[in-house]
Amino acid sequence: MTPNTPILPPNQCFPEALDFSAPDSILPLFDLSEIADGITATVLADAKQIRLAGTVNHTDFTLTVDLSGAAGHTKPWQIVTAAKLFFYCYPQMYARFGRSDTPRDVILLIEDFDYEIACAWENKVHIHDRWLEQCPEDFDCLTHEFAHTIQGDWQDGYMPQQEDDTYMVERFADFCRYLYAYKGGLFNDCGWELQTPEEEDNPFDSVRFWVWLDYTYSTTHRDIIREMNECIHQCSEEYNAAAWMPDGSAWQAVFAGTGAQGKDLFALWEEYLASDSAYLSSGVEHKGDVSPLLQAAPLRGAIHRHYSAARTYLNCE
Ligand SMILES: [Zn+2]
Repeated sequence: MTPNTPILPPNQCFPEALDFSAPDSILPLFDLSEIADGITATVLADAKQIRLAGTVNHTDFTLTVDLSGAAGHTKPWQIVTAAKLFFYCYPQMYARFGRSDTPRDVILLIEDFDYEIACAWENKVHIHDRWLEQCPEDFDCLTHEFAHTIQGDWQDGYMPQQEDDTYMVERFADFCRYLYAYKGGLFNDCGWELQTPEEEDNPFDSVRFWVWLDYTYSTTHRDIIREMNECIHQCSEEYNAAAWMPDGSAWQAVFAGTGAQGKDLFALWEEYLASDSAYLSSGVEHKGDVSPLLQAAPLRGAIHRHYSAARTYLNCE
């Protein structure tokens, strides 16, 4: 690709690899105006990085895409999509869960290193260079990892363990993956579904239960999942692992002032099992279809009743 190559229309392929010896060939690819206005791109050729910066929803965010450890398996269109996904998903999650120490400068490292799919630590999200080669549209695994960045230091010792699974950490990330999926689940819903009670048969394992709990009991004045995030951050000594047991005091603090007040997780689980939302498919056969679950309950739309400002910057749905 030579410098000054025009932006390719969507029905054409991107070139197979970004050419850091010709930074001007890279810049036009990172036009993120489809997502939000005013996001600028800078190529740091020696470091093999692309830095994207923008003010969205009155907050400054930067995403640095670091390709210094990549071997060229992730295609340029996938790298660009990952950057778009960040600016689509992250400010929305930040608007709901962000705190003063939540990272606003995030680094996405695409690496041909010795790990499997992806992981996150502090403000860095790592994804294996071969993952999107193998699963070309599994972009929302990054929504999951960016949710871990939003969580911050949740992994501390006070979190309850369920058979060695820090289940609240992972359920939160998958809760975000579903609700904040890129472009309303355009890529996600073809290949990643919320499991029904037949597969995830208890409140610790079930992502869908969290989605149902939020949809059913969060109110305009009291956001259950946001309260949970706040309690985990602020009250780690008061709300220890025992307090996060199903009938523990932490959950009661979270549920206070909502219809779930006074109920423990097992009682809520029984309510969930009696709802249609527990069983309707969240998957679709064709990209762009609306799942039976979303047809019955506008789960993704409902979160914006509380955080409408978080989406006003988006130029797409
Ligand atoms: Zn995870």
